Amino acid sequence: MLPEFLDRLFYLVGEAVVLLALFVLLLSIFVALLILYSFKTGNFFAARIMLLGTTLLESVIKSLFWIAGADDAVVDDVGVRLRNYINRREFIKTPREQRFIFMPQCVRSTECPAKLTPEGIKCVNCGRCNVGEAKRYAESLGCRFFIVPGSSFIKRIIKKYRPRAIVGVGCSMEIKEGLDLCHSYAIPAQGVPLSKAGCVATTLDWEQFYEVISENK
Ligand code: SF4
Repeated sequence: MLPEFLDRLFYLVGEAVVLLALFVLLLSIFVALLILYSFKTGNFFAARIMLLGTTLLESVIKSLFWIAGADDAVVDDVGVRLRNYINRREFIKTPREQRFIFMPQCVRSTECPAKLTPEGIKCVNCGRCNVGEAKRYAESLGCRFFIVPGSSFIKRIIKKYRPRAIVGVGCSMEIKEGLDLCHSYAIPAQGVPLSKAGCVATTLDWEQFYEVISENK
């Protein structure tokens, strides 16, 4: 038989665990409702608190979506839009000439003749895909344009050139990781999600891409 004080201690710990679990559940439901609201309206309420909640409680919130039979990709989608929203004001203050653009290699044509170099894959604007025109336009604005050959590339370029702002194209997961990476270097970044993700011949909303890279204060 346990001494009375241990009995009491276990009881208090058990009570605290139940209360904490209840608190996490209620908070997750609250953040999940905020995510749904943002997804439907495009507005963000208490954006920074929402981002913190989404980051800390992501797996619980996704489970709630799953239980409710909703698509949990909404959580990633809103997470990216939320980060873009928070970064936007600083991003548009940065002159276009100091913006770096990172395009994933999967957007290229499968017959792309571009060669790999230490500065990424060098597009020769052969006309087989939209990347060539995007590069030409971005460089006409003064931006630096990179086609990313692998996951460590962006970090290496950030360390080498210290860009003032970044636009990254990718799937939700890549954008989330990229935006977190930029946040750790205090670089305001904007993510443009692929509209069709995958390993090859992916696509994106080019209008949205051009709008983001050319946005100015
Ligand atoms: S336009 Fe550039 S990226 Fe696209 S296929 Fe040609 S060389 Fe490759």
